[in-house]
Amino acid sequence: MRGIVKVVEKATGFFNNLLDNQPIFRLDGAPDIRQTGSMKTARIFLGTDSGATTSKVAAVREDGSVVSTRLLQYPTDAHQGSAAIIAAWLRSADQYLAANQLRWDQVAGAALAIPGPFLSAGVLGLTANLPASLDGWDVGHDYAAALSAKAGHPVSLTVGNDGNYGGVGEASAVQKLAPGAVLMLAPGSGLGAAFIDSQGLPLDGDTFTAMEAGHMPAPLQLLGMPIFSCGCGRPWGCVEAYTTISGLPQLLREFLKQYPSHPLTASSLGEKEKALSLRGLAQKGDPLALAIFDFQAKTLGYHVASLVQAFDPTWIIIGGGLMDIESTTPEFRERYLGIVRDTALPLFWPGQRARVRFQAANLGELSQAIGAAQVARLTAQGSKR
Ligand SMILES: [Zn+2]
Repeated sequence: MRGIVKVVEKATGFFNNLLDNQPIFRLDGAPDIRQTGSMKTARIFLGTDSGATTSKVAAVREDGSVVSTRLLQYPTDAHQGSAAIIAAWLRSADQYLAANQLRWDQVAGAALAIPGPFLSAGVLGLTANLPASLDGWDVGHDYAAALSAKAGHPVSLTVGNDGNYGGVGEASAVQKLAPGAVLMLAPGSGLGAAFIDSQGLPLDGDTFTAMEAGHMPAPLQLLGMPIFSCGCGRPWGCVEAYTTISGLPQLLREFLKQYPSHPLTASSLGEKEKALSLRGLAQKGDPLALAIFDFQAKTLGYHVASLVQAFDPTWIIIGGGLMDIESTTPEFRERYLGIVRDTALPLFWPGQRARVRFQAANLGELSQAIGAAQVARLTAQGSKR
């Protein structure tokens, strides 16, 4: 198996360092080694989650169960170009399979989660997160060819938006508890949003930009705030600006008017640093920080209600940095989620009020890799619409 990578290595000269790199980051959990008897020959589906600097790998079995919840993260080094990126993904997958006593001949399908935009299926457009040289790269074709060569048999590959695949990962966990469609919102630096149908697959849209729900207008008449600017340039006060880090400096400026004696008023920190200090302050009960996140939660609740009008889901999953169990307290998360729920629920139709379930995301950094693996499985099993 490694020999094939070496052939590519000779062809490009890129890979000497990459081949020997070890995972750079590990989190809790241990490999699930319940593979006995027939499990050793069972088909598995591989998911790669690629960011500009690191990649993560996951795999699921035919029944959708996750092979391992141990987080292994590998360097991607996108700036070395497309061949180096693919070599890094293959090496990551190789190490993941070996760590879980799996073989390449078991790989029956694969999917790649990667930030868009896409020019067409599997073809990357220009993005702020990757080098301009990758604009127009048919990553779907190249990675499928590399995976097939590595596995020794044709491996079909599906490529999709990483945020949507994160939603697939989270959906796969809750749909086992109760079937139904899933709306996921994940406020972080921006507002991640995904809609996953009851079959478990994401709404991608015809130009692969469906569910850019952060850039829909916030109900400003209910919020009592001015129109905040948004990086997308739309003039209508995007929800993202009122619910995520991207608009937090503007929100802080407004809230400080009500808290003139707060230490942040006189702080020498820059606007962004002040904004980034708020999550920590809120965990200690700081009234200004709590008021700001309460406001963000209320705004997100209105947005949930708005999206529920369009999508009628069963599950509402809230993820992102405010639901991160390592950065926030259980009390804070319950408070935030409670405000989202209490704001949204009265605006649902009666049947939805009885059915809809709110839930914090719980797969953490593995959601996109697991989601990709689930997409690979569902695609191979013929669930694709
Ligand atoms: Zn916007």
